[in-house]
Amino acid sequence: SDHQFDYPPEPAQLDWDVHYPAFKGSGKVPEFADIGCGFGGLLIALAPLFPDVLMLGMEIRVQVTDYVEDRISALRLSNAGKTSEAESSSTPTPGPYQNVAVVRGNAMKFLPNYMKKGQLSKMFFLFPDPHFKQRKHKARIISPTLLAEYAYALRPGGVLYTITDVKDLHEWMVQHLEAFPLFERVSEEQLREEGHGPVLDAVRTSTEEGQKVERNQGDKFMACFRRIESRRTG
Ligand code: SAM
Repeated sequence: SDHQFDYPPEPAQLDWDVHYPAFKGSGKVPEFADIGCGFGGLLIALAPLFPDVLMLGMEIRVQVTDYVEDRISALRLSNAGKTSEAESSSTPTPGPYQNVAVVRGNAMKFLPNYMKKGQLSKMFFLFPDPHFKQRKHKARIISPTLLAEYAYALRPGGVLYTITDVKDLHEWMVQHLEAFPLFERVSEEQLREEGHGPVLDAVRTSTEEGQKVERNQGDKFMACFRRIESRRTG
């Protein structure tokens, strides 16, 4: 149950310096959230691509979270002293993997404790648990009630990425996201034109679950949605 988790009461009381010590004093907060990050493959792939952007994984399983934490610590250590590749104008960018962290918790319950309104520019739901049975559908991480929370955390213009190997779940996620007034489907082609290609590639290939699906030659169904200001009329 949830009492074992140590949730912050509200985002304002969060001390991100603990998670991103190299960014201390920068005033930065996470802009990418990987919900149900599993073993962290996406975060590790994205970290060097956006060295100035803080990213956060949220994972409910204790051992898995511990594993990701160790993985990040090891990567930070083995890259210590190196500089990040991106050129930053005024201040130097902290070393590789300093921009990635993980927290343990139930993202379906406590996302608003971590994220301020409009804080995120990207949210990832990669290979979420399918909860096949009809009576378990309310346990799905994409659901009408939760979409309001995701829309709250994601800023207008931000993108929510979903991918799964389960066709029925794909259709469910698309159906609910399309029905929600603050999200609008955006094609992969459009996102590539806007320069999100490397992110889409990471979404498809970098996670442990995605690699498993690949080994088993399963299908991958991706759908991406833009957070819009308000419903379009006409
Ligand atoms: N995204 C990862 C990937 O693609 O490899 C992991 C996919 S795995 C099938 C689903 C993950 O979501 C599991 O690690 C599970 O523990 C986590 N998860 C399920 N419900 C969650 C919740 N309510 N909050 C946070 N994580 C959750």
